[in-house]
Parts: sequence; C-alpha cells; structure tokens
Amino acid sequence: MAFNDCMHSREDSWELLDVHGLYLARVCDKCEAAVRKQYNPEIFGNINYHVEAGERLEEE
Ligand SMILES: [Zn+2]
Repeated sequence: MAFNDCMHSREDSWELLDVHGLYLARVCDKCEAAVRKQYNPEIFGNINYHVEAGERLEEE
C-alpha cells in the first residue's frame, strides 16, 4: 500500500495531527485528503465521539 508517495516540499507541507495532537504524517494540499483516508475519521475530531467517551468515564 502506498502510504504517502507525494513529493511535497518541506516548505509547503505540515504535520497532520489527530485530535489529541499526536503526529500522524507529513502532508501538503495535494496529499492531505489521501493521507487522511488512511485513518479513522474520528481521530481528527468527532465531537460526538469525545462526548460519549467522557460520559462513559464519568459513569464509572
Ligand atoms: Zn504532499
């Protein structure tokens, strides 16, 4: 599987982070969408997902 074969330059790229600020990959405008598809969309900030997790913790 070609994870990220984009030839983006260091100047035009940035670090793709998940909702917790964890580094995932280096991306640019051209490859960001393709790289994001490699991951569960929820890790980029699904608010409902966060609320559910927090509620479960409080219940315990
Ligand atoms: Zn790129």
